[in-house]
Amino acid sequence: DLIEKNKENELLRQQMTIDGMTQINNHKAFIDILNNEISRTIRYNKFLSLIFADIDHFKTVNDTYGHLAGDHALKIVAGSLKEELRESDHIARYGGEEFVVILPETKTEDALKVSERLREKIKNIKMSYNGKPFALTMSFGVAAFPTGRKISLEQFIKMADEAVYTAKKNGRDCCCVFKNG
Ligand code: GH3
Ligand code: MG
Ligand code: MG
Repeated sequence: DLIEKNKENELLRQQMTIDGMTQINNHKAFIDILNNEISRTIRYNKFLSLIFADIDHFKTVNDTYGHLAGDHALKIVAGSLKEELRESDHIARYGGEEFVVILPETKTEDALKVSERLREKIKNIKMSYNGKPFALTMSFGVAAFPTGRKISLEQFIKMADEAVYTAKKNGRDCCCVFKNG
């Protein structure tokens, strides 16, 4: 009976934290994990990096190959990003065609290397849906949690988001690091 109850609880927990389409952390889980990691980073004076990743021209993918092809691509992208990361990293679907990666104890330069690796990987996937081949690229924004200064979770996310915006402006399929000013 207790075992059944535990299984039930585990299932409920999964339903609340896992994105149904991509089977990675959902937005709510991401916020919880990031809150925890920010606390740890401040308490133990560690490094913390955040990568924001957005699929390039995804609307065109939907319009050209159909929404089901788009959904299929989202699943492949999520799995491919996850596969490339360490066990201690966290990946989530932020929403729509946007993904986030939390890299605990990771400095900016290393986070940038990770994002470059992810970018290359996505670019090289040969996707197909209903026999129709297509490819994708993604733009990446990298932000490092400031050392010796506390910022809010929202400010931290905004930094990574601004870096993606710069990556988009710079022609997409590239990685940008958030720089103050
Ligand atoms: P950009 O390179 O500037 O990011 O262009 P974009 O087309 O990717 O950006 P935009 O924000 O205009 O469009 C995002 C698209 O993602 C539009 C929306 O329909 C699509 N999308 C969001 N969530 C899903 C989903 O779950 N499935 C599918 N198939 N498409 C989705
Ligand atoms: Mg977007
Ligand atoms: Mg996009």
